[in-house]
Amino acid sequence: MIEIIDQENVCLENQLSLKLDYLNHPDISGNKFRKLKYNLLEAKKLQKSILLSFGGAFSNHIAAVAAAGHRFGFKTIGVIRGEELADKILENPTLSYAKKQGMQFHFVSRKVFREKATEAFTEDLKSRFGDFHLIPEGGTNALAVKGCEEILTEKDHGFDYICCPVGTGGTISGLINSSLPQQKILGFPALKGDFLQEEISKFANNSNWELITDYHFGGYAKINSQLISFINSFKANYQIPLDPVYTGKMMFGIYDLLKQGYFPEDSKILAIHTGGLQGIDGMNKKLRHKKLPIIK
Ligand SMILES: *Cc1c(COP(=O)(O)O)cnc(C)c1O
Repeated sequence: MIEIIDQENVCLENQLSLKLDYLNHPDISGNKFRKLKYNLLEAKKLQKSILLSFGGAFSNHIAAVAAAGHRFGFKTIGVIRGEELADKILENPTLSYAKKQGMQFHFVSRKVFREKATEAFTEDLKSRFGDFHLIPEGGTNALAVKGCEEILTEKDHGFDYICCPVGTGGTISGLINSSLPQQKILGFPALKGDFLQEEISKFANNSNWELITDYHFGGYAKINSQLISFINSFKANYQIPLDPVYTGKMMFGIYDLLKQGYFPEDSKILAIHTGGLQGIDGMNKKLRHKKLPIIK
């Protein structure tokens, strides 16, 4: 029922290859599709017809839940952080896309959003929307990690380093669990903070990993003109788009580490392109507003 397209890795330069996992489905892209796969199968098994999840105004996860619902026959509810967004749907590329995919929104204040995991809030949502299958913000749970364990295949056994961007830690956990003991998994957090170590340890059953915390560019969704120009020249060189929140920062970090001689000369590195391209339009709106160069 749920088919994931495996792409050939592309070689960027002699040591470094890229797995184009953003092309794993025509409309649900990258790691968010991986994370949804077993959650969708579980919802079907439980005969739930509604998926409900949470996210911010530019969330890749919200876009993916909406598209997956549309594609696989679920109604979708998006609980969105920020009441003020209710009358800005059409100005927001992510929300208007999700709406087109049939998602129904429930906008809540930042305070209510912070308390979204409470039983009282879940009960309130059930009385509004009926029985639903709940998927956490960012999509990370044990079934999501299981889906991410399928990103690496036998064809990837020859790589010494596997690199991925990190948000909640679900994706890297799956990579860790399906890696070989002699491989090293490097995570590039897209945000500040040291809670990730603990999150990843909850799901990961190996210790062959490390977080590289120098490339968050000041925090989640924070960018500067250096990063934008890197993303634009990467696309000009390889015809491969990168997103500004996750994959752009990771690739910037990998090239910087290569320059510093971090990787042994004969080692082979595989970076995972986890997707997130739907976020470019939203970011460009902000950049135009600030009169900064945009992502091409
Ligand atoms: C959400 C996301 C991540 C982070 O994944 P986690 O499992 O939350 O760590 C990485 N890349 C992209 C493109 C994403 O959308």
